[in-house]
Amino acid sequence: MDCIFCKIAAGQIPSRKVWEDARIFAFEDLHPAAPTHILLIPKQHISGLDAADGSHDELLGYLQRMAAHLARERRLAGGFRTVVNAGPDAGQSVFHLHVHLLGGRSLGWPPG
Ligand code: 5GP
Ligand code: ZN
Repeated sequence: MDCIFCKIAAGQIPSRKVWEDARIFAFEDLHPAAPTHILLIPKQHISGLDAADGSHDELLGYLQRMAAHLARERRLAGGFRTVVNAGPDAGQSVFHLHVHLLGGRSLGWPPG
């Protein structure tokens, strides 16, 4: 499949890896929007949150829990945010489900 994040998870496209296990892969965003900006992806290709179904419940929870784990590792004591952009209005640009982990600065609300 011609998917950039599938290729990153498979090591076919280089990335700055932060975490890898049997189910997920995490790496530094190429264009960081905050001092910490990590992307967490399932190794399984899912095009986006809108394509997830009940069989993905455990995986979705695991991605969130591992984002919190990486936030602790980065010592984001002041807080952090996880974001999943889904669809054009949210600005999703890569159609392989990913969780953004953002932190290291004050994050505005509501997001743009
Ligand atoms: P989206 O806009 O779909 O929610 O987020 C896609 C993210 O992937 C963006 O923050 C963008 O900077 C990042 N990105 C796109 N292509 C690459 C790449 O080849 N390598 C890395 N590390 N990040 C990428
Ligand atoms: Zn993919």
